[in-house]
Amino acid sequence: VNGASAGEAVESTLRLVVWIGSPDVTPNLPGVRGVAVHPTSTTPGGVIDAVRDSGITGPDLKVRAIVMVDPDAHPMRSVASYAALTVLAGRRLDVVCGERVLELDRLDRALRAAPTPPRPEEVPTCIQVGAEHPDLPSFQIDGPALAPEALVALRHARHVRLVVGDNLPAAFTSFVAIAALRSRAGQERFPLLVRGGEAPDPEPLPDGVLPRGFDLDTVRAGAFELKRALRASTAASTAPRVPPTPRQQSFAAAADADIESVLAELGTTSPDGVLWHCPRPLRHTNGDANASMKVEDNRARCFRCDAEPVDPLRLVADVLDVPADDAALWIARRVSPVASS
Ligand SMILES: [Zn+2]
Repeated sequence: VNGASAGEAVESTLRLVVWIGSPDVTPNLPGVRGVAVHPTSTTPGGVIDAVRDSGITGPDLKVRAIVMVDPDAHPMRSVASYAALTVLAGRRLDVVCGERVLELDRLDRALRAAPTPPRPEEVPTCIQVGAEHPDLPSFQIDGPALAPEALVALRHARHVRLVVGDNLPAAFTSFVAIAALRSRAGQERFPLLVRGGEAPDPEPLPDGVLPRGFDLDTVRAGAFELKRALRASTAASTAPRVPPTPRQQSFAAAADADIESVLAELGTTSPDGVLWHCPRPLRHTNGDANASMKVEDNRARCFRCDAEPVDPLRLVADVLDVPADDAALWIARRVSPVASS
């Protein structure tokens, strides 16, 4: 697609610009709301904090929105910020990077509609996209047309590493293509961002060990939690300022229940009295054989499952996969609230 004409078509209906870059140089388009996302650390938590601090919400992204990326912005943080924004939006947003307009929504839909090649007998454990690696099969992605062997590898490899260098448009395009090809019914899988030369991780990784690189699946989980929290706070802020309802009181009591008692009721244990086994062992490659849940300030966080510390109410809702009302009831029946401090 010709960049200039696409850019003009976009501008005529544009309502929101999300600027990934320094807030000091946010582009100012007349009549268009602008927000800046500016992570200051290359960690999943740093990226989620930056998206939260921008004040942007899922409903904000329902309008005609575009992501503009500062060509000088930190490449990994930029791709990770975009990944988080796509989770908030529930779709891929088009990107303007320097002179380039990247129609990533269209690319995403084209690749999701592509027929699934049959799973070969031998599936590579790990592949790399964007640069060669001495020990890994590697591929380049620059659009929807992919060689059959690349399609098969991208869809079926256990892990995909994406090399993020100075070519930001290539990195954004590759991210969207990888995520589209690897999505399964109800389950997204994002790649691991690397610089390219890192040795591949052994498979499976011991529990408690994070993959080498910047794990966009952790960013995805954090963005999903942020979306949920924003939805809950919007619902709370639109309610009239009246004394808390019994429902709100039950949520507050459940969130204040003693976290260790809740973990015990969920059937998990702490071998050393410090770290707990995760109550979601199926999400772990080895069933969380080595305890990996940290408990602090009456909140728990599993390195694998939680992008941030969660209170008992959120933990139970997630573990049992039930709405907050059911989780609050479940807790109230088993654990009494911590004496108010
Ligand atoms: Zn876990």
